[in-house]
Amino acid sequence: MKVCGMCGKHFEILGWTCTSCGHAPKLVDGYVAFAPQLAEASDGFEARFFTKLATLEAENFWFRSRNRLIIWALQRYFPQAKSFLEIGCGTGFVLWGIEQAFPKLRLWGSEIFTIGLDFAAQRLSKAELFQMDACKIPFANEFDVIGAFDVLEHIKEDGKVLAQMYQATKPGGGIVLTVPQHRWLWSQADDYAHHVRRYHAQELKTKVECAGFTVVRMTSFVSLLLPLMALSRLQQRKPNPNYDATSELRISGWMNAILESILYLEKTMIRLGFSFPAGGSLLLIASRS
Ligand SMILES: [Zn+2]
Repeated sequence: MKVCGMCGKHFEILGWTCTSCGHAPKLVDGYVAFAPQLAEASDGFEARFFTKLATLEAENFWFRSRNRLIIWALQRYFPQAKSFLEIGCGTGFVLWGIEQAFPKLRLWGSEIFTIGLDFAAQRLSKAELFQMDACKIPFANEFDVIGAFDVLEHIKEDGKVLAQMYQATKPGGGIVLTVPQHRWLWSQADDYAHHVRRYHAQELKTKVECAGFTVVRMTSFVSLLLPLMALSRLQQRKPNPNYDATSELRISGWMNAILESILYLEKTMIRLGFSFPAGGSLLLIASRS
């Protein structure tokens, strides 16, 4: 069901004009926009970063490995899902991976910046894309699965986002989340990306449970690369006015291949039931009863 952004009424029609108060969301750059005042500038993320990201992520071991892990999580925990919403879909690289793996799944993607949606629209053949503030999701009992991949750490009121995700998920459905982990890994990369926090595992679990979900699986990932990552992040502790966050993504082809095969091994271990206690990121899967 849809939820009116003005009067809060729940309604179920094709369009977006509220059946109770007549309110209709604006269009921004051709996308239905539920938070148009945030579509171009927000303190959450540098919109221009998308342009660099879109050219790097398809080849980069980290994005490719994260896609494999997300697709595995959907296959393993939500094999019956018919609808999927990604919050903060960025340039659509994850949705693109999901579209390849699950051709029958109906896909929605939301992003606070419409510039991200332009890249996503080029990549995807059938996803419905719209602009939205994750703190105010205009759906109730609508999606089998909602995903947010490295999104929550950008948002001050992450508890509010999780509560909204709970409302928008169908009973029997659930969520898949990834977030950066370990406060001691904080570096310029986090400052540059406007992260509000890196999570502690228990912190994420508690917040997800407070929203009403039941956690069904949680593991760290980028665990086998943690020593390497820690070294790289320690070097970034020295203030550098010319810091370029994409430098970490631009690595040689052979190094990229080695790192990707290590993360492939890691995914295999996770698939076999091993949960890593520490790692650069956290994966959490939770269900709504
Ligand atoms: Zn209304």
